[in-house]
Parts: sequence; C-alpha cells; structure tokens
Amino acid sequence: MPIPNHLALGLAALCATLAGCSTPPAAPPASEATVMAHLAAAQQAAGTEYPEYLNLCKPAPLKRPDAGSVDLAGLIARPAPPPGAAFDNLIYVGSAWVSAWALKTSDGLVLIDALNTVDEVERLIVPGLASQGLAPADIRTVLVTHGHGDHYGGAERLRALAGATPPRLVMSALDWTMTETQLEFASPIWPAPPRRNPARDLAARDGDLLRQGDTTVQLHVTPGHTLGTISPVFEVRAGGRTHKALVWGGTSFNFGRDLSRLDAYIAAADRMREIARREQIDVLLSNHPANDLTVKRLAALRANPAMANPFVIGNAGVLRTLTVISECAKANRDRFALMP
Ligand SMILES: [Zn+2]
Repeated sequence: MPIPNHLALGLAALCATLAGCSTPPAAPPASEATVMAHLAAAQQAAGTEYPEYLNLCKPAPLKRPDAGSVDLAGLIARPAPPPGAAFDNLIYVGSAWVSAWALKTSDGLVLIDALNTVDEVERLIVPGLASQGLAPADIRTVLVTHGHGDHYGGAERLRALAGATPPRLVMSALDWTMTETQLEFASPIWPAPPRRNPARDLAARDGDLLRQGDTTVQLHVTPGHTLGTISPVFEVRAGGRTHKALVWGGTSFNFGRDLSRLDAYIAAADRMREIARREQIDVLLSNHPANDLTVKRLAALRANPAMANPFVIGNAGVLRTLTVISECAKANRDRFALMP
C-alpha cells in the first residue's frame, strides 16, 4: 500500500532524527561503470523474449529534436494495418506508427488517443470502428495519453463527428497547460491542440478514476516523456478470462539533456512497476504499435482466433519490460550526468 504523502513526510522527518530507518540505497554517482551496469541490467531483463524497448538504451539525443526534422508525413503515410480486436473489449483502430485503442464499456467507448490528423480520423478511426459495428457517436471519452500532436491531432474532429453528444476529452492537467501555453512539439501537419471545455472535459490528476458504464480506468500520471503523460490501467477480456492492461503512455526520451526529466521518468517507471506487481498487471500495451508488437499480434490472432492471446505476456513479462524501460532511462541519465 502506498504511504500517503503527509505520512511519508512525517516519516522522513522522523528518520532524520532517529538512526536505523530504512531508506532506499542512494544510487552511486554516475560513471562509465554505472552506465554499463544499467545497460547490462536492461539486457538481462529483456532476455530474448522482451527486446522491444531496448531501443531506449541507445544514447538519447542531447537536444530536443525539432518536429520539422522528423519525417512526420512519411510516418503518417505508412500503409496502415487492418483494424482488429486485441481483446473482446479492446479494438485497435490505429496506424502503422501511432496507436488508437477503442475500449468498449456498457456505456459506449473510451478512445485512447486520437492520431495525428483529421484525415487519419476519417481514414482509420471511423472505418476501424465501423468494422466492429461501432461509430464515432459511440465515443463518450477521448483519453489523450500526452500532449503531442500524434496523439491529440484528431481529437477535435472526433468531437465534431459525434454529433449531439460530443465526447469529453481527458488529458492530464499538466499537459492541458502545456498544449494551451507552449507546445513541446509543433508541426503544420498537426491541427491546433483541442480546446478545453471546462464544463465537460477532464484535467486528470494522478490516481483519478475514469468511470464509464461498467468500466473503471485508472489514470496514472507518469511524468517523463511529457510532464503529464497518462498511463491508463483497465481490465481486458479474452477467452472467458479477465486480464489487467497498462498502456505505457509516453516512451521516448526526446526532451534532450534534461536530468530532472529523466529522474521523473525513472521514478514513474519504477512506481508503475510496483503498481503492476501489486495489481498483477499481465498486459503491457503502448500508444505506438512497434513497442507492443500490435500489428504482428493482431495478425496472429486474425489467423488463429483460438490461440492463447499473444498480448497477454504475464505479470513477469510486464515487470521485466518495465525494468528494461527504467534501466535504459538510468543508463541515459548517467550518460548525461557524465557529460561536461
Ligand atoms: Zn510523444
């Protein structure tokens, strides 16, 4: 059980005056050896089964990349995979580059992320939903995992398509502020960020619960990729069994040499690993399909619907993958710390 904040502060004060309180060991100062140790720990956690996030162990860019230096148009133009159900209640309607997940509830859909553009909404999300007998009007909530254009770009279009009952938009309070003031990434390819309707939209804080029909989505704020990245947790069902899924809401270290950001990222990854252990989370999803092998796994399910669900990697697999993410972040923090 997490220690409430006021108690933790009280304990820290007590520990300052009493000897013998157990506190986590401080990380040793950064050195070439600590970088190598974190890389080795990431390799070991990945083993041969979970190599997807080892990319994060490559040296992170020293400066925040300019959105103009990324071939956004090329990424968006990649041929999209067919939509499909990863679980009975979770449909993939994303592209080859960015994910959009439709979570079915007894009261309509929670759409996790809105893709880049109006065109992607009309070309991918609308037909993807239609393939499952669903429509934009079924979307009650659009949950934007973080305030970058590849996740919010289609949000206003979805709101417009829904007609008389537009969905509420959910973003973290921190990322609403970021998108309303100073965008971290800007590109003419992305529409303006969605405008917050305070009467309807939600500025989520860590630990908030999104309740819709029979479904509860835990909203964990996992700062790092953006300061207000949301990593949602919810139940998914397959083959008569219920599993617990976590969507890691922001992955890459594309903020440059910012040690406090990396420290926040590391703390968030380590905290989510504890939550994953406690909650026995056995499915780890992403908002970019390369990270969780969405396309390959959907194709396998399509070919053999009776197979064991390939998205269920088990609690040990989830913990190992979160360890890879954390250790790669630590390796990059120590690399940055060693630079003059
Ligand atoms: Zn992003």
